[in-house]
Amino acid sequence: MYIIITRSLLTAALSLVLASCSTTSQPVEISTEITPENALLALKAGNARYLDGDVRTHDWLHERIHKTGAEGQVPSIGVLTCADSRTPPELIFDQGIGSLFVVRVAGNFQNDAAIGTFEYGTAVLGVHTIVVLGHTKCGAVTATVAGKKLPGKMPAFTSAIQPALAGLPKGADGTISTTDAEIANVRWQAAELVKRSDILSKAKAAGTLNILCAIYDVETGAVRFLD
Ligand SMILES: [Zn+2]
Repeated sequence: MYIIITRSLLTAALSLVLASCSTTSQPVEISTEITPENALLALKAGNARYLDGDVRTHDWLHERIHKTGAEGQVPSIGVLTCADSRTPPELIFDQGIGSLFVVRVAGNFQNDAAIGTFEYGTAVLGVHTIVVLGHTKCGAVTATVAGKKLPGKMPAFTSAIQPALAGLPKGADGTISTTDAEIANVRWQAAELVKRSDILSKAKAAGTLNILCAIYDVETGAVRFLD
């Protein structure tokens, strides 16, 4: 006798397994828990859990299928960060599916595609906070500081980062500090993101959109929010 395992049967079986484990699961993080007022605290708390190795137990089946998949997404926080494999924002901030609206590109720079994405997130989906998140040891920023000539389409990111470095002081060796450059890049990209978008600038002026700048340390795992 053959038993045909359908997707619904599999889902039901998984639900039973997850339900049996529910006594040890902590509450699922859902996007509606993050308000404009507590967004910064929620991100800091998530990063603290990540640092402590005390991340929330996520019920992925619930978050994916029963919550965001069926009911649609209501992300709270947009994140513009680097493509670097060490900077996954959902892990760094200990967030589940449906909370973060993320654009990732080498050097975390804004362009029309990123701006349009965040305009959609803000105007349509309800994103109320955008974090521009740079990181230490960023290869894209380091290459820009070094003035390296890169092949292919890679100059797309160095040329996008270059304007952010204008005016930075040079050390005795005539070079710009990479750390200074990473911070300057985050601040400049955040400013440009708003300046180049009527939708984002109006939302910010109306107080319905907050922009945060931060640097993630790839060695310690800590996120430092900039003033
Ligand atoms: Zn990077």
